[in-house]
Amino acid sequence: MLERPAMLLLIPGPVQTRPEVRAAMAQDIAPWDRDFQAVYARIRERIVGVAGGTPGVHATLPLQGAGHFVTEAALRTFVVPGGKVLIPMNGAYATRMARLAREAGREVVPLDLPDTRGATAADIVPVLEADTSIGHVAFVFNETGSGIVNDADGIGRAVRGLGRRMILDAVSAFGVLPFRLDEHPECDVLVFTSGKCLEGMPGMGFAVARMDRAEACAGHAQSWSLDLSDVLANAKRSGWGSIRFTPPVQAIAAFDVALDLYEAEGGQPARYARYRANADALYDGLAAIGLRPYLEKQHQGPVIVTVHQPSDPRFDLMTFVEALKRRGVLISNFYNTSAPTLRIGAIGAITTDDIRRAVAAIGATLDDMLAKAA
Ligand SMILES: *Cc1c(COP(=O)(O)O)cnc(C)c1O
Repeated sequence: MLERPAMLLLIPGPVQTRPEVRAAMAQDIAPWDRDFQAVYARIRERIVGVAGGTPGVHATLPLQGAGHFVTEAALRTFVVPGGKVLIPMNGAYATRMARLAREAGREVVPLDLPDTRGATAADIVPVLEADTSIGHVAFVFNETGSGIVNDADGIGRAVRGLGRRMILDAVSAFGVLPFRLDEHPECDVLVFTSGKCLEGMPGMGFAVARMDRAEACAGHAQSWSLDLSDVLANAKRSGWGSIRFTPPVQAIAAFDVALDLYEAEGGQPARYARYRANADALYDGLAAIGLRPYLEKQHQGPVIVTVHQPSDPRFDLMTFVEALKRRGVLISNFYNTSAPTLRIGAIGAITTDDIRRAVAAIGATLDDMLAKAA
């Protein structure tokens, strides 16, 4: 055990979870046990529903591990080797996606944009029109580096209009930002993980993909373990409760409980409303104690809030985060915006009461650190 008192986690994953979710981990499970296979198959069905997909058209293709693994698998599976993929570059996770694609031997066409506003169709269209050999647009839905949101709906419609395909990194958006696969036939696949907005434990990645496209793309991946077409083929051959390699069974059991709680809360609209209220309370509360927002309010999404670090030379991020922790609040001890920021999560099993407590703790910690010598 970590030797420390209960901590309020304000980070964009793995997030603060509910006790019921954590309790579901306290069991030993065999992955091939029929009881577990039923849970696993049910989770896959429920996820298609959350994704706004249609059973038989869309399928959940899970992959063990972190988000990067399932993002790489999506790129490898759906972009033909050597194929061109346009990536709007406006944040840390976009940069990571581009690296995954490049190292997999796909040709990245980077579109440089500022990290202080979301990308829109107007940014993408001229690039696609100028280069008809770009087959895919791949992008991050909610940019977890800064807190901006790229316009997945608008970009999707533009991609469809120009006859291209789309890959969506919805890792910090799925279940919260509205997006329905049924309305986006141009979307080959979206990906997310168990430990973010659905408030489960970390350990599983999930792709939700068009089955026709996953089948048509068989043989692209140049990897067995990262081949989503093979995940689908395995499900068709051995059943939707079967899994190719040993999964984090406890995290999957906990995820089923997290989905129960998500539905009980009221699904996407309710979770969006709670996170939006958290992010607004953070944005306004931090501004009120003198911390300058990194984003203009109209570009501030509901998942993560970033503010400029105080320019006072006595401020040191690592020292600050450790001192804040002693007041029971944990935030990221790094930043990945282009200017130095504090990065604070608005997601997880938290409410505006927690946010108000955290803002007070941040204010007190800063006062201690930057107290003017009498
Ligand atoms: C968290 C996250 C990922 C994946 O991160 P892992 O550490 O690999 O789980 C990918 N994209 C976005 C936008 C994220 O927020």
